[in-house]
Amino acid sequence: MMSGNRGISETSQKRESVENKKDDARWIEITPEWAYWVDRESFNLKRVKKLVPIGSVIIVKSREKIEDERTYVDSSFGVINGKGIVNLPKKEASEILARQFIEYIKWKNQWPPFTSIKKIQKSGDVEISFDPTEYDSFRLIVTRQMLGSDPSESLNRLKKYQSPQVPLWKVETAKSGKSRCRSCNDVILEGRFRIGEPYFYEGSLSYKWYHPRCLTASLDIEELENLDGYKLLRSEEKLRLKRIFTI
Ligand SMILES: [Zn+2]
Repeated sequence: MMSGNRGISETSQKRESVENKKDDARWIEITPEWAYWVDRESFNLKRVKKLVPIGSVIIVKSREKIEDERTYVDSSFGVINGKGIVNLPKKEASEILARQFIEYIKWKNQWPPFTSIKKIQKSGDVEISFDPTEYDSFRLIVTRQMLGSDPSESLNRLKKYQSPQVPLWKVETAKSGKSRCRSCNDVILEGRFRIGEPYFYEGSLSYKWYHPRCLTASLDIEELENLDGYKLLRSEEKLRLKRIFTI
């Protein structure tokens, strides 16, 4: 009994010291007004409050005025070093994220959140999309050199460890005319079909919406019946939706 207990406490002590060591991996104080950093341990985007670990990729947001009162949000990218933010082109920030992606899968043997295979290139390199929020999206290129093995093979093997509760794409008729299509950027009119790509933002499920017509190249007609919400459509709606994919 005693030795068993000691065993457990030794293990937890060991775990604690590993975690402390991670905390020692130095954090630095930065003070941008509005910025997020990518947490390498959770692959979540976190708002910069004060301290950020060195080596983190950072997204700095700013509001730019276009005309009159209208503004849009601009993002710039960088990495944190011992002195503060080093500005980088998005491509270079994405290269750092690709390395952190590999660290994550080697460490946890599972897919980081908000990531999926976008494309397997002819060279065998794998293009990963990392979409931590509705507004932020990165393209990570994982090469054989970086991974030390064939990326498509080892990443596909990882899929098995992916959480089984992956939400489905969804179809519905728009309840208002407020959403915009992520492909063509036009408004999706009230009452029209919209197809949603699921993602999680700060732990809650959300969707990126598309016009069905803007997905005809990427979604097969056979897949429509598997969409969440398809069964809730009236039969004439099902026909109307399918017709869009047969044109
Ligand atoms: Zn569209």
